[in-house]
Amino acid sequence: MAVIRLYNLNVSLDDDFERALKREAAKRVGLDASTVRLVKRGVDARERTPRYNCTADVELPAGADLDRLLRDIGSNAAIPEPTPPLTAVPGAQPLKGRVVVVGSGPAGGFAAYVLALNGYRPLLIERGKPALERLRQIGRWNAGVVELDPENNALFGEGGAGSFSDGKLYTSSRRDPFVPRILETFVECGAPERILTDAAPHVGTDILSRVVVKLRDKIIALGGEFRFNAKLTDVTLSNGHVSAITVNGSEHIDVSSVVLAPGHSARDTYEMLLARGVLLEPKPFQLGVRIEHAQELIDKAQLGRYSRDRRLAPASYDVACHAGGLDLFSFCMCPGGITMAAVSEPGCLNTNGMSFSPRASGYANSALVTTFQPADFGLKPLDGVEFQRRYERAAFASGGGDYAAPAQPVSHYLRGLHSPRNMRGTYARGRKYAALAELLPEKLNKALRANLPEFDKRIRGFLSDSGILHAIEARASSPVRITRNPGSRESVNTEGLYPAGEGAGYAGGIMSAALDGIHSALAIVAKHAKPD
Ligand SMILES: Cc1cc2nc3c(=O)[nH]c(=O)nc-3n(C[C@H](O)[C@H](O)[C@H](O)COP(=O)(O)OP(=O)(O)OC[C@H]3O[C@@H](n4cnc5c(N)ncnc54)[C@H](O)[C@@H]3O)c2cc1C
Repeated sequence: MAVIRLYNLNVSLDDDFERALKREAAKRVGLDASTVRLVKRGVDARERTPRYNCTADVELPAGADLDRLLRDIGSNAAIPEPTPPLTAVPGAQPLKGRVVVVGSGPAGGFAAYVLALNGYRPLLIERGKPALERLRQIGRWNAGVVELDPENNALFGEGGAGSFSDGKLYTSSRRDPFVPRILETFVECGAPERILTDAAPHVGTDILSRVVVKLRDKIIALGGEFRFNAKLTDVTLSNGHVSAITVNGSEHIDVSSVVLAPGHSARDTYEMLLARGVLLEPKPFQLGVRIEHAQELIDKAQLGRYSRDRRLAPASYDVACHAGGLDLFSFCMCPGGITMAAVSEPGCLNTNGMSFSPRASGYANSALVTTFQPADFGLKPLDGVEFQRRYERAAFASGGGDYAAPAQPVSHYLRGLHSPRNMRGTYARGRKYAALAELLPEKLNKALRANLPEFDKRIRGFLSDSGILHAIEARASSPVRITRNPGSRESVNTEGLYPAGEGAGYAGGIMSAALDGIHSALAIVAKHAKPD
């Protein structure tokens, strides 16, 4: 039976969804569409009346002329591609030691899952603690009951930065054929089925932290092994090949291949790799501030009279401007989310945003970032890390040295006003009024001043007194690349080392890091024979 995929089918929010989708599909193909399967559904709120925008697969009746339909419908139709499996034909080279995965974030977690599915029994080492212990620690730290644990925090621990996040599961690599496989795996691990068809799937930290535990169970059931509180502290290189790793400074493990997925905050790991001669390069990265508004303001600006419509999720925004020769864009926007301290290094403050699945905090936050090039911060491999650290330390000190965030209404910031006042919001460690311009790199100040007026034109009220800026969002992306060979996916100067995910400088976000981990695991499978 021939199947055609139809894009941009519009359905009114007021219609019976199933029936209206079938009707629209039938209209499009000019035939009775007996079986219509929803593939993706988003809400298009650009028009005065928001509506569903859908992709659907339609089974065509016998005798339908598929080629003619494809020709007539043009870019709004295609033949659906089958989703490839997460398995591959094993290579021939024998394994001389274990296959190890470093880090249990989305890149490491999915690399380990694919290796386990293919019979390679990976050992995953994770410097932090299992998800539930980690959540407990973060909760207690947010409440000010315990000190920051540099190994177990919002960035380190089971699930990586990915499990303590906003949980948006979409990616600019959406054409990668493995995207549906990742979402299916999430569902098998307890995420709701709606993520398979939502155009902008979201789960939240509450669901993610349960998903990563189930993913771990799956990996173990397939023969993999997990070790927590296990930090990669050294690598042994022999003739340009990684032959062993050291865990926690004392335990040596002979290895054949290592998927290195430590995330972008493993600064000590970068230092160790550099000292051992692995090629690291500086790369451009983004740095900025995080702004928080009442969700109601964003809903009104984005949805107008539909702003209280319960069928619609809290509104988001995605704005990019380029004024005065400098870019400024919103990043990791969290509707109904919480502004948080995403920190791992004592004395350094870094903001980010997270949410729980209901997205019901009543606030909306987003990073506002500009791009820094190596020419702005230095050409040595870790100059970008040093640059981040300098501004993180300044923010920490300005907040009072206890992870309170220096903050200021955006209107004060733009007018150069220093007029301390109380600021409400979600940031758990408290905010301290500060003249933010003094804490930020000048390039960022210029980018904010040049571009923020345009944000206000696109989102009414964006620059009102209620918009609060927090400093500093220093880790929006990795300042380092662990350069790899595009074909083999191994480090260009260290065979057997597979840098993957955000920390390697090849991904940004949960889905893209997971995809990167999958491709690296498949490269190992394609090279090496399966262990006995
Ligand atoms: C608060 C927050 C919210 C976010 N929200 C979203 C979102 O909504 N959607 C989205 O797509 N992205 C989001 N992101 C970004 C996303 O989480 C990251 O891009 C993604 O997690 C990167 O995956 P990764 O596997 O490469 O690294 P990470 O997730 O950072 O994982 C790296 C892991 O390696 C471990 N590790 C580090 N060094 C070592 C070592 N030496 N030995 C052993 N283990 C080590 C760490 O403990 C960590 O668990 C968010 C990030 C943060 C911080």
